[in-house]
Amino acid sequence: MSIEAIKSIIRDVPDFPKPGIVFKDITPLLADAPLFQSAVDLLSDRVRGHQPDAIAAIESRGFVFGAAVATKLSLPLQLIRKPGKLPYKTASVAYDLEYGSDRVEVHVDAIEDGKSYAVVDDLIATGGTASATAELIELEKGIVACCAFLIELTFLDGVKRLGARPIESLIRY
Ligand code: AMP
Repeated sequence: MSIEAIKSIIRDVPDFPKPGIVFKDITPLLADAPLFQSAVDLLSDRVRGHQPDAIAAIESRGFVFGAAVATKLSLPLQLIRKPGKLPYKTASVAYDLEYGSDRVEVHVDAIEDGKSYAVVDDLIATGGTASATAELIELEKGIVACCAFLIELTFLDGVKRLGARPIESLIRY
């Protein structure tokens, strides 16, 4: 199954969640079993190359791909969540949005000193979420093995915010 086939099933939804944003809707991909499986296989191959000790998946569409990649590669899965969602003690990093700021959180016992983590999300836009996640992992003394995305919106140049950390993206717009 080709990357082009995966790309063509991702649906553009203009002006969601606000005017001017073209939302990349991955739900048709998830509903197509062979194509979803193929996307997970391809993403897993990219992640495997960086030999991470674990996967760190970003809420919430990142959970879908992160969990699938973790299972495929038989790796532990850790969850990076929006504020107030994780039940145990957390560490967090704040990041700027167009208006205001947001935060990513992780359980304080989730990231092990010196272990490497592949950050997985569905999409990188401005790179704010992924760079805050990478900083959080490093704050907790983990190593970022790579940041892997199904989709990269190249025109927003989000990868710049990830600095020298290795990037993998399957589909680029
Ligand atoms: P950013 O922090 O700007 O890189 O935004 C990345 C996060 O926002 C990811 O978790 C995406 O799921 C979501 N996101 C941002 N822009 C879009 C878009 N155009 N279509 C779908 N999801 C998006």
